[in-house]
Amino acid sequence: MISPEDIEKLIRSELKTMKAYIPIEPTDILSQRVEIAEENVIKLDGNENPYGCSDRVKQALASHAYYHLYPDPEQRELRKALEKYTGISSEYILAGSGSDELIDLILRLFVAPGDKVINCPPTFGMYPFSTDVCAGKVVSITRKQDFSVNVSAIKEAIDKQTKVAFIASPNNPSGNVTPEDTIMELVKSGIVVVIDEAYFEFSNITVAPLVPKHANLIVLRTFSKWAGLAGLRVGYGIFPTKIVKYLMKIKQPYNVNAAAQVAALESLKDISYLRGTIKALINERERLLTKLSQLDWLRVYPSQANFTLCAVLNGKAEAIYKGLQRRGIFVRYFDTPQLKDCLRISVGKPEHTDALIAALQQIC
Ligand SMILES: *Cc1c(COP(=O)(O)O)cnc(C)c1O
Repeated sequence: MISPEDIEKLIRSELKTMKAYIPIEPTDILSQRVEIAEENVIKLDGNENPYGCSDRVKQALASHAYYHLYPDPEQRELRKALEKYTGISSEYILAGSGSDELIDLILRLFVAPGDKVINCPPTFGMYPFSTDVCAGKVVSITRKQDFSVNVSAIKEAIDKQTKVAFIASPNNPSGNVTPEDTIMELVKSGIVVVIDEAYFEFSNITVAPLVPKHANLIVLRTFSKWAGLAGLRVGYGIFPTKIVKYLMKIKQPYNVNAAAQVAALESLKDISYLRGTIKALINERERLLTKLSQLDWLRVYPSQANFTLCAVLNGKAEAIYKGLQRRGIFVRYFDTPQLKDCLRISVGKPEHTDALIAALQQIC
């Protein structure tokens, strides 16, 4: 018999010390935690779409006849529909179980133990997380004060072991877009440059059309934020065709499940509904930014996404975060050196903005 202590000896040593990813919690768990009914919880911590997916998606899911069969391993119908949506040929496109899976697959494809991956914090936590899981080395090149990417520092850091750089644009949590000329400067360095456009539909700025002209440029997208499908896990990437071939080879054959493929396809067919919710969220973002800016103890950063970053200037960030929670309002709280006393607030419906502002005025 082997003891639990002995099994530890078999576990990869670098995984014993790696930092865990801190995920957000679903509504029912939050509801129990603060003892507030689920329907009264205001969830502004996950950049999810409060309007949800279209009713046509729910109908398509209910009437799909093939849940007992494996889905198409090559995702042909979905990739064809994404060709129409993106304007980029389907041979450049591959879908994943969320863009999170694609981040992991890209790293597995390029990073051998000890290889380096450039990360530009403050940013999305999955890049260092998946690098750690692959036993890669995270090279952190902190963004500048205005959250722009420090290109010259990245270029200086690149050596023979550097394989991949990740840039979220718009960046999570700072909300700013990285300009195309900056991205192209990195592409010229020859490493794999991954532009994570999870919030593209809210910024309308993309480098996707440049992918077919460059062997080392990748653009990631997701249905989680704009299309209201975070729970079904479906994302996609626009990759150079050579990279698509390798990813097709190393991915799990049925990585995007049947329900996710049905939902994504139907979303693309009911695009006018989604365009409506995007428009509502962009309008609401601007109203939220205006209202928050009126609070003189908050510094509000502009945003091209469906959330906004705020620095709390009165030293009460944690008390505000907890006070909001007690009222059933959940936001993301950061207390890292680069994001001292910061809150990230997702854009919700107008009534969510009103409840949030009222609560903030009550707390402070
Ligand atoms: C939310 C988010 C994702 C996650 O997308 P999934 O498709 O849900 O895995 C990826 N990148 C960034 C920057 C995000 O904020």
